[in-house]
Amino acid sequence: MTHAIRRLLAANLTTQILTALALGSALGLALNYWHIPFLQEHLVNGLFSMVGQMFLNALQMLVVPLVVFSLLCGVVGIGDLKVLGRVGGLTFVTYLATTALAVMTALVFANIFNPGMGFDSLHMASADVSVATQDTAWQILANIIPKNPVQALANGEMLQIIFYVIVVGIAVLMIGSRAKAFVEGCTFMNELAMKIVEIVMAFAPIGVFCLIAKTFALEGFGLFAPVIGYLATISLTLVFHLCVTLMVLLYVCTGLSPRAFLRKMRSAQVFAFSTSSSNATIPASMQCVTQRIGVDRSIASFGIPLGATINMDGTAIMHGVATVFLANAYGIDLGFGGYMTIISISVLASIGTAGVPGVGIVMLAMVLNQLGMPLDGIAIILAVDRIIDMMRTVVNITGDAVVTTIVAQRVGKLDRAVFNDPDAGILTPATLDIDHEAEAAFAELTHPKAEA
Ligand code: ASP
Repeated sequence: MTHAIRRLLAANLTTQILTALALGSALGLALNYWHIPFLQEHLVNGLFSMVGQMFLNALQMLVVPLVVFSLLCGVVGIGDLKVLGRVGGLTFVTYLATTALAVMTALVFANIFNPGMGFDSLHMASADVSVATQDTAWQILANIIPKNPVQALANGEMLQIIFYVIVVGIAVLMIGSRAKAFVEGCTFMNELAMKIVEIVMAFAPIGVFCLIAKTFALEGFGLFAPVIGYLATISLTLVFHLCVTLMVLLYVCTGLSPRAFLRKMRSAQVFAFSTSSSNATIPASMQCVTQRIGVDRSIASFGIPLGATINMDGTAIMHGVATVFLANAYGIDLGFGGYMTIISISVLASIGTAGVPGVGIVMLAMVLNQLGMPLDGIAIILAVDRIIDMMRTVVNITGDAVVTTIVAQRVGKLDRAVFNDPDAGILTPATLDIDHEAEAAFAELTHPKAEA
């Protein structure tokens, strides 16, 4: 036993996180099964909830500084406005195309398996749901320009931050050599932000364990029975999109091995699964894509945060399946026009909403509104949405990484030597070692010894 624990402590971070995921799920399900009020109150809603929230806060704490400094360095690093425009355009279009592909796949699978046929719709009519609707597509576009960049930074408004930082980067390029000290400062801040990512990641096994244990202790399996067909169709479509569509795309466009790619993305995927947030997973994705897969930082710093905001393949899949499920349950015929509406609204909605837990349900309300369908049915879906959110977030962030890698390959910014090295960028306990020589030098700097 102690031998196993010692081996686990010495293992790399991905192994530790995966072990935490398995142990946390098992404990959570056991707690849900036995449902002991004392443990529910003090362990699940107390300790696990607190530690999980601390971990989520720590991840979110990293996002804004990391995005700002790495994107700024990225823009300045690309250096050429034409290349910048090409990278931006290519990334944007590929994101929209993969999301459209995802929702189309979902519609095909939903029509094959027809979840919701014969579902007791009275069950749903009694449910009471109020879901706020979102801005229109025009408002979303207008809001990309922040009135107040400081406010955008403080609120973590990703599209506004990306816009502002790109403008600053372009201005820096125009100023030229006089901005050298500023660029050096930003490069250092970028390195610092990445180091802090490594520090927070070292606590990931504990954070993941508590988040997963809490989720399973609260959700259990009981909720799934009425919507098992819906759940199975979504899961199947998510797996298909992740393992077939995205991996074929990756292989055809880059020639990289899909297996190695998925192995190198594993730690970010576990983060996405346990946090249900593409935004909170930005630091982990960035680490995997740059240090494990070999995408140049200048491309990743743009593609990953942008993808976390505008690219949601997994969420689009949920929209497709959920709409067909509800239409079947209500006996509504969607028709060709209905399918087109689902595809276009789902793609547009994913542009304006940030990658945070549960946002997909709000976007689903938009799709249903547009189709003139009742919103009541969302209640039955909400019951199991947390688990689906975890799974779809994994697909969302993997889609971001695939597109970013494809773009990097297209513009010659993919380092295959890094990709081909199975150990590249692996985080181990030694990652957090302190450089003792530097420590002595700093001590000398901050507390100079009196001259003899
Ligand atoms: N949780 C998802 C994400 O962060 C969004 C959603 O579908 O709710 O990517």
